[in-house]
Amino acid sequence: MACQQFDSVATILEIPVNDRDRMKFPKRALTVAVPVPMDNGTTHVFSGYRVQHHLALGPTKGGIRYHPDVTLGEVAALAMWMSWKCALTGLPYGGAKGGVTVDPGALSLGEKERLTRRFTQELIPFIGPQVDIPAPDVGTNEQTMAWMMDTYSTHAGHSVPGVVTGKPVVIGGSLGRREATGRGVAYLIYRAMDSIGMKEGSATAVIQGFGNVGSIAAWSLAKYGVKVVGVSDAMGGVYNPAGLDLAALEAWVASNRTVVGFPGGDAVSNAELLLLPCDILVPAALERQITAENAGKIQCRILAEGANGPTTPEADDILAQRPEIFVIPDVLCNSGGVVVSYFEWVQDLQSFFWSESEVVDKLFRILEGAFTQTLQLSRKQKITMRMAALSLGVRRVYDARKARGVFP
Ligand code: GLU
Repeated sequence: MACQQFDSVATILEIPVNDRDRMKFPKRALTVAVPVPMDNGTTHVFSGYRVQHHLALGPTKGGIRYHPDVTLGEVAALAMWMSWKCALTGLPYGGAKGGVTVDPGALSLGEKERLTRRFTQELIPFIGPQVDIPAPDVGTNEQTMAWMMDTYSTHAGHSVPGVVTGKPVVIGGSLGRREATGRGVAYLIYRAMDSIGMKEGSATAVIQGFGNVGSIAAWSLAKYGVKVVGVSDAMGGVYNPAGLDLAALEAWVASNRTVVGFPGGDAVSNAELLLLPCDILVPAALERQITAENAGKIQCRILAEGANGPTTPEADDILAQRPEIFVIPDVLCNSGGVVVSYFEWVQDLQSFFWSESEVVDKLFRILEGAFTQTLQLSRKQKITMRMAALSLGVRRVYDARKARGVFP
């Protein structure tokens, strides 16, 4: 998917065929074996990966994913998308991604800690504040980043907070980082509503995924006056056309670890959830959710991609024939997370920390610029919002590489 999208953008940007492979191949990819002593006395060897896509703009940046479907190919695609995302928002980074093929829900806290520390140890020659800076992604969180930071720091002999972002605030994390992705998703939806003349007071939203991105997006949309009528997680979903009680839902999830069974709505499957009538549909889980099969049937006016890669290129072709749907593409829509990661890194390097309102204000300013540029380019060149956003990102990386020459 990532390569297919790149080829379409390269054609729009008229990048010579001879330069295309250099932009597509990841600069570096590392596979490691991660042996972990398990609680039952056995040792299990997990596979871990880290891919750094390009080095033309500075260190590389991107999350670490713990999920049973993680493969080197998936991590490489996610690293490429991180490159375009960072370039679109003007961050001085190349893209990276990492992951371990594991179901984190099946591990005890101790097993997760041992896995994370051993994986980090294997990554030590590959990461660092000036080299490559991991962050949370699907299946990882602030605690994972704290263990990574501590393992790296133990090796260095002093605290190195700038080696990861998305850490707890108490050890050098940034205020507003945990909320940044979901908050950014909601802000961009608000801007899209304004562009198409939709009133927030009567708008409804359906959100796939109730993790860090989906849940904060739900709360932030509610603040803008949008009614959240459907949410789901990996187990299934709930729907209430009158609106879900988010506080009650969150309390339910805290004790049941799933939205399934929530008494304030009717049960729906993930496949049904995506087809519910709504104004705003937010896939905020995994890749390949909007496909050739359901793209013609989704019933929203705004498709806001909180996840990375939720829409396949075949689905994109169908959406291009449905101009009534305004797509906020992933590299723009979920970029709030890495933007505040950048703020966290800057604060760590300077040991000078900002207030939450400063963080949110600077975040919205960057998102506003990226949204406006993308919309203008899409209208001027009559290309989709995805092609416009990717064009802006790819163009910056291409220009940087041209200016620098051979190395990166
Ligand atoms: N995992 C997030 C993403 O896909 C955040 C990456 C970061 O903050 O470095 O954008």
